[in-house]
Amino acid sequence: MNEIPLVDLKLQYDLIKTEILQDVDQVCSSSAFIQGKYARKFEEDFSALQKIPYTVGCSNGTSAISILLEALGIGKGAEVIVPTLTFIATAEPVCHVGAVPIFVDVEPSTLNIDTAKLEAAITANTKAILPVHLYGNPANMKQILNIANKHNLTVIEDAAQAHLAKLDGATVGNFGAAATFSFYPGKNLGAYGDAGCICSSNKELIDQCRVLLDHGRSEKYLHHKIGYNQRMDGIQAAILSTKMRYLEGWTARRKAIAAQYREALSHLNQLRIVEATPGAEPVYHLFVVEVDDREGLANFLKKRNIASGVHYPIPLHLQPAFSKLNYRAGDFPVAERACQRILSLPIYPEMTEQQIAHVTESVQSFFR
Ligand SMILES: *Cc1c(COP(=O)(O)O)cnc(C)c1O
Repeated sequence: MNEIPLVDLKLQYDLIKTEILQDVDQVCSSSAFIQGKYARKFEEDFSALQKIPYTVGCSNGTSAISILLEALGIGKGAEVIVPTLTFIATAEPVCHVGAVPIFVDVEPSTLNIDTAKLEAAITANTKAILPVHLYGNPANMKQILNIANKHNLTVIEDAAQAHLAKLDGATVGNFGAAATFSFYPGKNLGAYGDAGCICSSNKELIDQCRVLLDHGRSEKYLHHKIGYNQRMDGIQAAILSTKMRYLEGWTARRKAIAAQYREALSHLNQLRIVEATPGAEPVYHLFVVEVDDREGLANFLKKRNIASGVHYPIPLHLQPAFSKLNYRAGDFPVAERACQRILSLPIYPEMTEQQIAHVTESVQSFFR
């Protein structure tokens, strides 16, 4: 069997190529390269899809967090609580605005931020909690909001991996003051380059973000603030509007594949599947299992032409980039142990039944 990659963007492109090339042609023909009508259409489309009133497109999911933090007035002297098990882009923007990321361990079942350990991390300087819907599985927003309300903190959802994920019937991005999304090519909704957005039901906040990410301007040459150039480009916007029409279907496929994996693998007692949060409908950006012999399983799969990944091998508190914050090994034992044991199996909408079966049979035979 040909290699089963973690995600197959080339195959997806082949299926939608005609529409994508039309999009590129339209944007180029109308010279709507930066923001412009396609960016506006993307914002309307994404708000409708994600069921959040206001969206502003931007350059990527990292700048989305930076711009949002700045618009919320979170900067020097502030502390922002972040789970230690996530991609570094959750925490970098906290540093970019001059605030300090305060890491919190994750819960063993879901690997999302552990709300039982969250309150202990709050100090007089804490301004916000930045939970991540890791692997497409919503964090425990009910408890996070309870804690945030009690301590008067702002909640920002990092929904980079969780387009269309739901918790208690509501789509993510509707729980905190605002949410950020990434459209990095490999995300569930991916652009053909970098792109991201900020969503909120607070129009004023989204307007402030819009000004900040476009040179602080209200008119072409009237600048109220020292802003940034973090705009979304027209080609990405048009492509995202097209791909959005497929997202519900693609997400249903991811859920179906995850259900097949679960069915085939859940009886293996040497393997644990990362659990969904109670009340959640995860969208399986990644399908993650925990095993003792992670390297052994990864190598075994590789020999059978199955790719796998580790998301992520090093928790943020042990990253050299954050060494100044003085965390040590042992500070967050759940995340540290998980980072030694987690393995992401291939999951993408275009996987064939044959490929899915090859993955499940291979994992089963590793343990036999
Ligand atoms: C991808 C990702 C980001 C950053 O998105 P970019 O568009 O790559 O800048 C932020 N947080 C998480 C959890 C991510 O997975």
